[in-house]
Amino acid sequence: MSIVPPKGGSHHPTATQDLLTWTCDGCGDPILSGFVAVRYADIEAAGRAQTDWDRRHAGGLVVVLTRGEMAAMPEPAQWHAWHDDCGPHPGGNEYSFGQPPTFEAVLSWTVHLMEKNWFAATDWGPFLRRQLHPQGC
Ligand SMILES: [Zn+2]
Repeated sequence: MSIVPPKGGSHHPTATQDLLTWTCDGCGDPILSGFVAVRYADIEAAGRAQTDWDRRHAGGLVVVLTRGEMAAMPEPAQWHAWHDDCGPHPGGNEYSFGQPPTFEAVLSWTVHLMEKNWFAATDWGPFLRRQLHPQGC
């Protein structure tokens, strides 16, 4: 198998030059300077809830869940984006930025976060989806 570079001379797609403008979870406005954060307390609570859930549903390869059990599945810790003045800074993992990041930078953040042992207890994927499609489309 070979990888063919895109035609047009550049090996970097232009999309990497585009910026992701976060939307503030406090006021709903675009963020030019701010931070994204997830609370340590929420990560710990989500991790405990998942451990409890796994213990209660351990057993076979196939686990059949009732609708009630589905509804009771543990929620991951939620990431939020804030303006510096809108955010509560409640203690947690915070990533500040002075300008909207490029998509390449967001991908680098994502890879960095995926290496953390607490990453699976957070909602980074759904958070990015909300940020990319704030209208829900
Ligand atoms: Zn705000």
